[in-house]
Amino acid sequence: MKPDLPALGIDVGGGSAKIGIVSPAGDVLGQDTVASDSAVFASVLLDRYLEAARHMQTLLGIKQLCGIGIGLPGHIDFAKGATRLGNVPALDEFPIVEYVSAKSGNKVYIENDATLAAVAEHRYGVGQGSNRFLTVALGTGIGVGFIENGKPVHTANGTMGDIGHVIVDPTGKRTCRQGCHGCLESVASALALEDRYQALRGNSDDKRLSSLFESARAGDLECGQIIQEAALFIGAALVTWMHIFAPDRIAFAGGVSAAGEDLLSPIRKTVTRLAMADYASRATILRAKLGSQAGLVGAAALCFPIQHNERVQP
Ligand SMILES: [Zn+2]
Repeated sequence: MKPDLPALGIDVGGGSAKIGIVSPAGDVLGQDTVASDSAVFASVLLDRYLEAARHMQTLLGIKQLCGIGIGLPGHIDFAKGATRLGNVPALDEFPIVEYVSAKSGNKVYIENDATLAAVAEHRYGVGQGSNRFLTVALGTGIGVGFIENGKPVHTANGTMGDIGHVIVDPTGKRTCRQGCHGCLESVASALALEDRYQALRGNSDDKRLSSLFESARAGDLECGQIIQEAALFIGAALVTWMHIFAPDRIAFAGGVSAAGEDLLSPIRKTVTRLAMADYASRATILRAKLGSQAGLVGAAALCFPIQHNERVQP
């Protein structure tokens, strides 16, 4: 493998996949989007991703890649090179690594998308130099990635388990997409906040998070209250994760993190109030900086050798 070659990153999402060619420095040299049509076979879908990548390579004049990284929104079976329980059912249980490797001739890596958000921020974003870096991806679902001494940690199912489903509201009536009661996803995911905002506005068509955040910033108390409540639940879940993983730095990514300090400030206060002082004092809480490109940049980063500054000793 030549370390100066770019890599292909594929960030598979429920609606579409982002495909990008990324340099070892983390620059996205070219990017495209392919619809994640679940009505087709896995092989057809993967062929479309590779076709888009080939087209991009031709446009950019890039003849060789150092590898292909694929981010998937579900459990990861590294032994089989497959995923399951993702939101692109066509890909479930399909031998993705074997197929893409045979089709492309490249070395292929897979990881869960929340893990990749952490990989990307650790290598190129706000996690650089951290020995115990936790990323919380607050999107349609809620995922957590943890990087310990430069390497992603997996606790179960090739991920951090279903850590976004930690129970924070045991007497609550809300359920999440997977059917558990009172988990963090049920009360603080983008879906949960959109539903609450839509109900507040009399079920209007506008359920965009950006409208909720703008209204809160403009002084709408009820919108501010929705964000405050979400921050309380997220803060409670975060304290649980801090007591298990003892991160020295924490980054919030995903659509809900666009609320910025309106969300992070009450999360920090909740952590100060609830956590053991030893854990709270060692961790800095920040907003991730790579935005919507984190998934594909993190996927590509799986192909690059670990850099010196990621081998920081504890
Ligand atoms: Zn749940």
